[in-house]
Amino acid sequence: MRTSRILTGIGIAAVALVALTGCNSGSPASPGATGEGAAPADKPLFEVATDVTLDGSPTFDRVAKNGKITIGVKEDQPGLGYKDATTGERTGFDVDIARWVAASLGFGEDKIEFKPIPSANREQSIVNGDIDYYVGTYSITDKRKQVIDFAGPYFVTGQGLLVRKSDDTIKSEDDLAGKTVCSATGSTPLQNIEANFPDTKTVGLDLYSACVEQLINKQVDAVTTDQAILIGYAAQDPDELKVVGEPFTTEKYGVGLAKGDAALQTFIHTMFTDGGDTWTAIFDKNLGASGLTLTQPTIEK
Ligand code: GLU
Repeated sequence: MRTSRILTGIGIAAVALVALTGCNSGSPASPGATGEGAAPADKPLFEVATDVTLDGSPTFDRVAKNGKITIGVKEDQPGLGYKDATTGERTGFDVDIARWVAASLGFGEDKIEFKPIPSANREQSIVNGDIDYYVGTYSITDKRKQVIDFAGPYFVTGQGLLVRKSDDTIKSEDDLAGKTVCSATGSTPLQNIEANFPDTKTVGLDLYSACVEQLINKQVDAVTTDQAILIGYAAQDPDELKVVGEPFTTEKYGVGLAKGDAALQTFIHTMFTDGGDTWTAIFDKNLGASGLTLTQPTIEK
Protein backbone atom coordinates (compact mmCIF):
# COMPACT_ATOMS: atom_id res chain seq x y z
CA MET A 1 0.00 0.00 0.00
CA ARG A 2 1.21 3.46 -0.76
CA THR A 3 1.26 6.09 1.92
CA SER A 4 -1.60 8.35 2.81
CA ARG A 5 -1.40 11.66 4.58
CA ILE A 6 -4.42 13.10 6.20
CA LEU A 7 -4.63 16.71 7.24
CA THR A 8 -6.98 18.11 9.81
CA GLY A 9 -7.95 21.47 11.17
CA ILE A 10 -10.02 24.51 10.61
CA GLY A 11 -8.19 25.58 7.48
CA ILE A 12 -8.91 22.22 5.94
CA ALA A 13 -12.56 22.42 6.88
CA ALA A 14 -12.77 25.80 5.19
CA VAL A 15 -11.14 24.48 2.04
CA ALA A 16 -13.42 21.46 2.10
CA LEU A 17 -16.45 23.74 2.32
CA VAL A 18 -15.53 25.18 -1.02
CA ALA A 19 -15.23 21.68 -2.41
CA LEU A 20 -18.48 20.42 -1.04
CA THR A 21 -20.61 23.39 -1.89
CA GLY A 22 -18.86 24.59 -5.01
CA CYS A 23 -17.21 22.11 -7.28
CA ASN A 24 -18.76 18.94 -6.01
CA SER A 25 -22.16 19.16 -7.59
CA GLY A 26 -21.46 17.06 -10.63
CA SER A 27 -23.50 13.99 -11.40
CA PRO A 28 -24.43 11.96 -14.41
CA ALA A 29 -26.22 14.41 -16.64
CA SER A 30 -28.33 12.15 -18.73
CA PRO A 31 -29.25 8.49 -18.81
CA GLY A 32 -26.41 6.50 -20.26
CA ALA A 33 -23.87 9.26 -19.72
CA THR A 34 -22.75 7.78 -16.43
CA GLY A 35 -19.90 9.59 -14.82
CA GLU A 36 -20.43 13.01 -16.32
CA GLY A 37 -18.10 15.39 -14.51
CA ALA A 38 -18.83 18.57 -12.57
CA ALA A 39 -19.12 20.86 -15.56
CA PRO A 40 -20.80 19.96 -18.84
CA ALA A 41 -17.53 20.53 -20.68
CA ASP A 42 -15.78 17.86 -18.59
CA LYS A 43 -15.25 14.56 -20.26
CA PRO A 44 -17.07 11.69 -18.56
CA LEU A 45 -15.15 10.03 -15.73
CA PHE A 46 -15.75 6.67 -17.39
CA GLU A 47 -17.71 5.08 -20.20
CA VAL A 48 -20.56 2.61 -19.90
CA ALA A 49 -19.23 -0.71 -21.23
CA THR A 50 -21.19 -2.66 -23.81
CA ASP A 51 -21.55 -6.39 -24.45
CA VAL A 52 -20.20 -7.33 -21.04
CA THR A 53 -20.10 -10.98 -20.08
CA LEU A 54 -18.95 -12.31 -16.73
CA ASP A 55 -18.95 -16.07 -16.36
CA GLY A 56 -19.41 -17.62 -12.96
CA SER A 57 -20.81 -14.54 -11.17
CA PRO A 58 -24.23 -15.15 -9.57
CA THR A 59 -24.54 -11.38 -9.02
CA PHE A 60 -23.91 -10.60 -12.68
CA ASP A 61 -26.40 -13.30 -13.73
CA ARG A 62 -29.01 -11.62 -11.54
CA VAL A 63 -28.41 -8.05 -12.75
CA ALA A 64 -28.33 -9.22 -16.37
CA LYS A 65 -31.69 -10.92 -15.85
CA ASN A 66 -33.19 -7.91 -14.03
CA GLY A 67 -31.80 -5.40 -16.52
CA LYS A 68 -30.85 -3.13 -13.61
CA ILE A 69 -28.41 -2.97 -10.77
CA THR A 70 -29.23 -2.23 -7.13
CA ILE A 71 -26.45 -0.60 -5.13
CA GLY A 72 -26.39 0.00 -1.39
CA VAL A 73 -25.00 3.41 -0.44
CA LYS A 74 -24.92 6.10 2.23
CA GLU A 75 -26.78 9.32 1.56
CA ASP A 76 -26.00 11.52 4.55
CA GLN A 77 -22.19 11.66 4.25
CA PRO A 78 -21.18 14.75 2.24
CA GLY A 79 -18.24 14.22 -0.10
CA LEU A 80 -18.58 10.43 0.10
CA GLY A 81 -22.20 9.33 -0.21
CA TYR A 82 -24.75 12.13 -0.26
CA LYS A 83 -28.23 12.82 -1.59
CA ASP A 84 -29.36 16.41 -2.02
CA ALA A 85 -32.75 16.60 -0.31
CA THR A 86 -34.01 19.22 -2.76
CA THR A 87 -32.76 17.97 -6.10
CA GLY A 88 -32.47 14.27 -5.27
CA GLU A 89 -29.01 14.34 -6.82
CA ARG A 90 -26.51 11.82 -5.47
CA THR A 91 -22.88 12.84 -5.14
CA GLY A 92 -19.70 11.69 -3.49
CA PHE A 93 -16.57 9.65 -3.96
CA ASP A 94 -18.26 6.36 -3.00
CA VAL A 95 -21.27 7.05 -5.21
CA ASP A 96 -19.00 7.67 -8.20
CA ILE A 97 -17.04 4.48 -7.40
CA ALA A 98 -20.40 2.67 -7.33
CA ARG A 99 -21.29 4.20 -10.72
CA TRP A 100 -17.89 3.22 -12.13
CA VAL A 101 -18.41 -0.42 -11.14
CA ALA A 102 -21.91 -0.36 -12.65
CA ALA A 103 -20.66 1.27 -15.86
CA SER A 104 -17.91 -1.35 -16.16
CA LEU A 105 -20.60 -4.02 -15.91
CA GLY A 106 -22.62 -2.26 -18.64
CA PHE A 107 -25.13 -0.36 -16.49
CA GLY A 108 -25.54 3.39 -16.93
CA GLU A 109 -27.26 5.78 -14.54
CA ASP A 110 -30.72 4.95 -15.87
CA LYS A 111 -30.19 1.30 -14.92
CA ILE A 112 -29.03 1.93 -11.35
CA GLU A 113 -31.23 1.89 -8.29
CA PHE A 114 -29.50 3.31 -5.23
CA LYS A 115 -30.66 2.04 -1.83
CA PRO A 116 -29.66 3.86 1.35
CA ILE A 117 -28.54 1.31 3.92
CA PRO A 118 -27.11 2.22 7.33
CA SER A 119 -23.91 0.71 8.68
CA ALA A 120 -25.60 -1.90 10.87
CA ASN A 121 -27.63 -3.43 8.02
CA ARG A 122 -24.99 -3.80 5.31
CA GLU A 123 -23.99 -7.44 5.71
CA GLN A 124 -27.60 -8.60 5.99
CA SER A 125 -28.69 -6.67 2.87
CA ILE A 126 -25.91 -8.31 0.89
CA VAL A 127 -26.65 -11.77 2.30
CA ASN A 128 -30.39 -11.33 1.57
CA GLY A 129 -29.68 -10.21 -2.01
CA ASP A 130 -31.53 -6.91 -1.39
CA ILE A 131 -28.61 -5.18 -3.11
CA ASP A 132 -26.13 -6.35 -5.75
CA TYR A 133 -23.20 -4.65 -4.03
CA TYR A 134 -22.50 -1.95 -1.45
CA VAL A 135 -20.26 1.09 -1.70
CA GLY A 136 -20.29 3.29 1.39
CA THR A 137 -17.34 3.85 3.73
CA TYR A 138 -17.36 0.10 4.32
CA SER A 139 -14.24 -1.08 6.14
CA ILE A 140 -12.79 -4.44 5.19
CA THR A 141 -12.68 -6.53 8.39
CA ASP A 142 -12.14 -10.23 9.10
CA LYS A 143 -15.43 -10.37 11.00
CA ARG A 144 -17.42 -9.03 8.04
CA LYS A 145 -15.51 -11.33 5.71
CA GLN A 146 -17.08 -14.28 7.50
CA VAL A 147 -20.41 -13.41 5.85
CA ILE A 148 -19.57 -11.31 2.77
CA ASP A 149 -16.61 -10.61 0.49
CA PHE A 150 -14.95 -7.31 -0.37
CA ALA A 151 -13.28 -5.94 -3.48
CA GLY A 152 -10.54 -3.50 -2.60
CA PRO A 153 -9.25 -1.65 -0.79
CA TYR A 154 -10.08 1.40 -2.87
CA PHE A 155 -9.68 4.05 -0.14
CA VAL A 156 -7.83 4.34 3.16
CA THR A 157 -8.69 6.56 6.10
CA GLY A 158 -8.76 6.24 9.89
CA GLN A 159 -10.96 6.90 12.89
CA GLY A 160 -11.17 10.54 13.94
CA LEU A 161 -13.11 12.91 16.17
CA LEU A 162 -15.58 15.70 15.47
CA VAL A 163 -16.34 18.15 18.28
CA ARG A 164 -18.08 21.49 18.75
CA LYS A 165 -15.89 24.33 17.59
CA SER A 166 -16.19 25.99 21.00
CA ASP A 167 -14.90 22.89 22.83
CA ASP A 168 -11.25 23.01 23.83
CA THR A 169 -11.38 20.00 26.15
CA ILE A 170 -11.10 17.35 23.42
CA LYS A 171 -7.99 17.61 21.27
CA SER A 172 -7.41 13.93 20.55
CA GLU A 173 -8.55 10.44 21.52
CA ASP A 174 -6.51 10.85 24.72
CA ASP A 175 -9.13 13.28 26.03
CA LEU A 176 -12.17 11.00 25.84
CA ALA A 177 -12.31 9.81 29.48
CA GLY A 178 -15.60 10.91 31.01
CA LYS A 179 -16.94 12.07 27.64
CA THR A 180 -19.89 10.78 25.63
CA VAL A 181 -19.25 9.99 21.99
CA CYS A 182 -21.73 9.10 19.29
CA SER A 183 -21.18 6.78 16.35
CA ALA A 184 -23.16 4.51 14.06
CA THR A 185 -24.44 1.22 15.34
CA GLY A 186 -22.54 -1.68 13.77
CA SER A 187 -19.56 0.48 12.83
CA THR A 188 -15.91 -0.27 13.52
CA PRO A 189 -15.30 3.11 15.28
CA LEU A 190 -18.09 2.41 17.77
CA GLN A 191 -16.70 -1.06 18.42
CA ASN A 192 -13.24 0.43 18.97
CA ILE A 193 -14.49 2.90 21.59
CA GLU A 194 -16.51 0.19 23.36
CA ALA A 195 -13.55 -2.20 23.40
CA ASN A 196 -10.64 0.14 24.13
CA PHE A 197 -11.97 3.28 25.86
CA PRO A 198 -13.63 1.93 29.04
CA ASP A 199 -14.03 5.40 30.58
CA THR A 200 -15.93 6.77 27.60
CA LYS A 201 -19.71 6.56 27.25
CA THR A 202 -21.13 5.71 23.84
CA VAL A 203 -24.33 6.50 22.00
CA GLY A 204 -25.06 4.36 18.94
CA LEU A 205 -27.44 5.71 16.30
CA ASP A 206 -28.37 4.58 12.79
CA LEU A 207 -26.80 7.51 10.97
CA TYR A 208 -23.79 9.76 11.49
CA SER A 209 -25.91 12.78 10.56
CA ALA A 210 -28.09 12.02 13.62
CA CYS A 211 -24.92 11.94 15.76
CA VAL A 212 -23.90 15.32 14.34
CA GLU A 213 -27.28 16.75 15.34
CA GLN A 214 -26.79 15.44 18.87
CA LEU A 215 -23.34 17.03 18.95
CA ILE A 216 -24.65 20.42 17.90
CA ASN A 217 -27.47 20.10 20.47
CA LYS A 218 -24.91 19.25 23.19
CA GLN A 219 -26.40 15.81 23.85
CA VAL A 220 -23.00 14.22 23.16
CA ASP A 221 -19.44 15.57 23.36
CA ALA A 222 -18.02 14.14 20.14
CA VAL A 223 -18.85 12.16 17.04
CA THR A 224 -16.39 9.47 16.09
CA THR A 225 -16.02 7.71 12.79
CA ASP A 226 -13.64 7.77 9.83
CA GLN A 227 -11.95 11.13 9.50
CA ALA A 228 -12.88 11.34 5.80
CA ILE A 229 -16.55 11.31 6.85
CA LEU A 230 -16.09 13.84 9.66
CA ILE A 231 -14.31 16.32 7.39
CA GLY A 232 -17.46 16.42 5.28
CA TYR A 233 -19.63 17.38 8.25
CA ALA A 234 -17.14 20.00 9.47
CA ALA A 235 -17.12 21.51 5.99
CA GLN A 236 -20.92 21.77 6.01
CA ASP A 237 -20.95 23.65 9.31
CA PRO A 238 -17.54 25.21 9.96
CA ASP A 239 -18.94 27.74 12.44
CA GLU A 240 -20.15 24.96 14.76
CA LEU A 241 -17.89 21.98 14.17
CA LYS A 242 -14.23 21.00 13.92
CA VAL A 243 -12.22 17.83 13.38
CA VAL A 244 -9.53 17.31 16.04
CA GLY A 245 -6.52 15.02 16.41
CA GLU A 246 -4.99 12.57 13.99
CA PRO A 247 -6.55 9.36 12.69
CA PHE A 248 -6.06 6.65 15.33
CA THR A 249 -7.03 3.50 13.40
CA THR A 250 -6.67 2.34 9.80
CA GLU A 251 -9.89 1.85 7.85
CA LYS A 252 -9.61 0.33 4.39
CA TYR A 253 -12.75 0.61 2.30
CA GLY A 254 -13.99 -2.21 0.10
CA VAL A 255 -16.94 -2.80 -2.18
CA GLY A 256 -19.20 -5.23 -0.30
CA LEU A 257 -20.11 -8.32 -2.35
CA ALA A 258 -22.03 -11.54 -1.91
CA LYS A 259 -19.77 -14.14 -0.34
CA GLY A 260 -18.19 -16.48 -2.86
CA ASP A 261 -18.66 -14.26 -5.95
CA ALA A 262 -14.98 -14.50 -6.82
CA ALA A 263 -15.69 -13.68 -10.47
CA LEU A 264 -17.17 -10.29 -9.58
CA GLN A 265 -14.44 -9.63 -7.03
CA THR A 266 -11.74 -10.30 -9.65
CA PHE A 267 -13.63 -8.16 -12.19
CA ILE A 268 -13.69 -5.18 -9.81
CA HIS A 269 -10.05 -5.69 -8.83
CA THR A 270 -9.10 -5.62 -12.51
CA MET A 271 -11.21 -2.48 -12.98
CA PHE A 272 -9.36 -0.74 -10.16
CA THR A 273 -5.94 -1.98 -11.25
CA ASP A 274 -6.35 -1.19 -14.94
CA GLY A 275 -8.46 1.93 -14.46
CA GLY A 276 -5.76 4.40 -15.46
CA ASP A 277 -6.56 7.87 -14.14
CA THR A 278 -10.19 7.14 -13.32
CA TRP A 279 -9.69 6.69 -9.57
CA THR A 280 -7.76 9.95 -9.36
CA ALA A 281 -10.37 11.79 -11.41
CA ILE A 282 -13.11 10.54 -9.05
CA PHE A 283 -11.04 11.52 -6.01
CA ASP A 284 -10.23 14.97 -7.38
CA LYS A 285 -13.84 15.66 -8.29
CA ASN A 286 -15.27 14.71 -4.91
CA LEU A 287 -12.50 15.12 -2.35
CA GLY A 288 -9.81 17.07 -4.18
CA ALA A 289 -10.27 20.18 -2.06
CA SER A 290 -11.16 18.40 1.19
CA GLY A 291 -7.61 18.45 2.57
CA LEU A 292 -7.35 14.67 2.27
CA THR A 293 -4.25 13.68 0.36
CA LEU A 294 -4.42 10.14 -0.87
CA THR A 295 -3.29 8.02 -3.76
CA GLN A 296 -5.12 4.96 -4.93
CA PRO A 297 -4.27 2.04 -2.63
CA THR A 298 -2.96 -1.19 -4.07
CA ILE A 299 -5.51 -3.98 -4.28
CA GLU A 300 -5.01 -6.69 -1.65
CA LYS A 301 -6.01 -10.09 -2.87
N1 GLU B 1 -15.61 2.55 8.01
C1 GLU B 1 -16.29 2.26 9.23
C2 GLU B 1 -17.14 1.02 9.12
O1 GLU B 1 -17.23 0.43 8.09
C3 GLU B 1 -17.11 3.44 9.71
C4 GLU B 1 -17.93 4.10 8.66
C5 GLU B 1 -19.30 3.49 8.47
O2 GLU B 1 -19.95 3.13 9.46
O3 GLU B 1 -19.73 3.41 7.33
O4 GLU B 1 -17.71 0.59 10.10
